[in-house]
Amino acid sequence: MLHRLTISELTARIARREVSAREATQACLDQIQRVDGRVKAFLSHDAGDALKQADAIDRLTASGTTLNEKPLLGVPIALKDVIAHQGQPLNCASKILGKFVSPYDATVVNRLKDAGAVVFGRLNMDEFAMGSSTENSAFGPTLNPWDTTRIPGGSSGGCAASVAAHECFASIGSDTGGSIRQPAALCGVVGVKPTYGRVSRYGLTAFASSLDQIGPFTKDVTDAALVTRAISGHDLRDSTSMREPVPDYRAAFNTNLKGLKIGLPKEYMIGGLDPEVDAAVRAAVKQIEGLGAEVVEVSLPHTDYAAATYYIIAPAEASANLARFDGIRYGARVDGADPFELNSRTRGQGFGPEVKRRIMLGTYVLSSGYYDAYYLRAQKVRTLIRNDFLKAFETVDAIVTPTTPSAAFKVGEKSDDPLQMYLCDVFTISCNLAGICGISLPCGFTASPRLPIGLQILGKPFGEPTMFRVAHAYEQSTAWHREFSPLA
Ligand code: GLN
Repeated sequence: MLHRLTISELTARIARREVSAREATQACLDQIQRVDGRVKAFLSHDAGDALKQADAIDRLTASGTTLNEKPLLGVPIALKDVIAHQGQPLNCASKILGKFVSPYDATVVNRLKDAGAVVFGRLNMDEFAMGSSTENSAFGPTLNPWDTTRIPGGSSGGCAASVAAHECFASIGSDTGGSIRQPAALCGVVGVKPTYGRVSRYGLTAFASSLDQIGPFTKDVTDAALVTRAISGHDLRDSTSMREPVPDYRAAFNTNLKGLKIGLPKEYMIGGLDPEVDAAVRAAVKQIEGLGAEVVEVSLPHTDYAAATYYIIAPAEASANLARFDGIRYGARVDGADPFELNSRTRGQGFGPEVKRRIMLGTYVLSSGYYDAYYLRAQKVRTLIRNDFLKAFETVDAIVTPTTPSAAFKVGEKSDDPLQMYLCDVFTISCNLAGICGISLPCGFTASPRLPIGLQILGKPFGEPTMFRVAHAYEQSTAWHREFSPLA
């Protein structure tokens, strides 16, 4: 039952030499063997390399390395297929990368390894992180471990499902408009989108560079704080990463929330919100009040424009970022009579329909004549959205909302309706546009079928300490995090 432990439970045992990193890694590999045929979270995993890393950690432990030096000592952590891991495939769940293998490690991979983690596996996702259900993967969908007829959310569906099925102790994903928090909510795990600039994006395949941020999926808030700390900090290789110091987020943990003011935005608790989600979030707010926080209503008046703004800015940036997949520089190539034909055949066959839709949308909003009307205007609205948050944060320390409008839906239910799919992210998108931090954690279940519901806590720019404190106090006062999915 080793695979069921949290990171803090596992590392305590490894540090006491009761368990080895090899045993922990083998427990994950065995669990993958048992359940991944049903979950399909992993696109691939290199068991030999993982065990080799584990043996190296075990040698370090034998020579006296402590948890203080390596806080993730022997912890198997898996990666979304958008993060470079040297010598491993990197496909972004797309056909266009062909047999591409990463020539280098992303900064987050280096940091995880420095912290003692065993980094392994490629987790499924929506192609190039575009989607909310993992159905846009060129390699087929991942399924929700709570109900395998349902989607796990997206785009980091493999990350969320693998943690919910206890196939790894944590996973690392990316969040451009909700891709960590939304699948975390739908799979009943914890997911963090750090403040923009908190975690280096070096080695993350870019989707929308001004919105993308890397973050962890874990089984509880303590583990999320641990992993976030390990991967955060300035990096010379990412000029948008910030020099802000990285605290031990656990230092702010406290069982009561006295002295904190929490905002409940009136624009979020609206019609269209599933009644069971509404009830679970309201109960969570009561619980947070019971812990000593003062809860007040706040207004984020430009909330209604967030999705429209995002679906101009994100595709615009994507259309530029994805221009590099031209059949010449990376991965797959479909030959043609001349470079133009080669390029259009490669892209025509290599990209799936959602990626093509985004590239066309993005190219359109950036084209001369439309730039001012769409892209420039969206940038102005983005500033208004950010200002809404900065104003609210003048009076409150954190903001609480639902993570998603409803629980996990059926495979195929929304895949023919892009607009319905886009609306899965109405509550998560603003956080990326504003550059602030957010976490999703379990706050209940729907009655029948029994599916997880997520609570989102948003913090100020670099307000991770308070965000984690509120999340931890709430989590510890409930039993939701102790519920295991049927496939765990
Ligand atoms: N679902 C959103 C989209 O399709 C967000 C994706 C993400 O955060 N990567 O763009």
